[in-house]
Amino acid sequence: MTRSASQSARPGRTVVLALGSNLGDRLLNLQRGVTFLCGSGLRCSAVSAVFQTAPVGGPEQGDFLNAVLLADSALPAAEILRRCQLAEAAAGRVRTVRWGPRTLDVDIIACGAEVSTDPQLTLPHPRAHERAFVLAPWLDVAPDARLPGWGSVADLLAAAPDRTGVRRLDGERLALAADQSVSDEQPEASAQCR
Ligand code: AMP
Repeated sequence: MTRSASQSARPGRTVVLALGSNLGDRLLNLQRGVTFLCGSGLRCSAVSAVFQTAPVGGPEQGDFLNAVLLADSALPAAEILRRCQLAEAAAGRVRTVRWGPRTLDVDIIACGAEVSTDPQLTLPHPRAHERAFVLAPWLDVAPDARLPGWGSVADLLAAAPDRTGVRRLDGERLALAADQSVSDEQPEASAQCR
């Protein structure tokens, strides 16, 4: 199916995506994720600073680099999750140990005010409210942000158990892709990650 430019630009809701990497070239992995997602038809509006964070739970492993990407999209949340998983796969992610090291992890933190208890896609993300490595970059890019059902991201961050393990890296930046003019319905056509 094809759509006109005006249809593909129909207004959506704010989608909050959290990216993390602690294997290989971590910054490059995050950038590949951002480039892939923005090229996959999500209308990306902002990307946070990069934060270095100590791992929470799981086996012993190296520190993560984390960032949050904001996009506007009218796509169903399940389709957005599929594009996040394509981004992970494009960065070479292989699922082995749960909560183990990974080249790229992409989680949907919130899709507007949508609520879902489906284990395959829980919204808002069930652990976002207590994860400083999500809340700190989110706050960086949206100072007035609120997590649906939980409240102010600033207040949640102030109480997050892992907040002392999160450090902003001022020397590292991620860039939004230049061309985001792709239709919502054609993820693979333009989203090859090299
Ligand atoms: P992970 O190993 O952290 O990447 O977890 C991936 C699994 O969590 C997948 O099976 C997803 O279907 C599921 N999942 C549930 N809710 C979410 C969400 N909000 N964002 C990303 N994955 C989710």
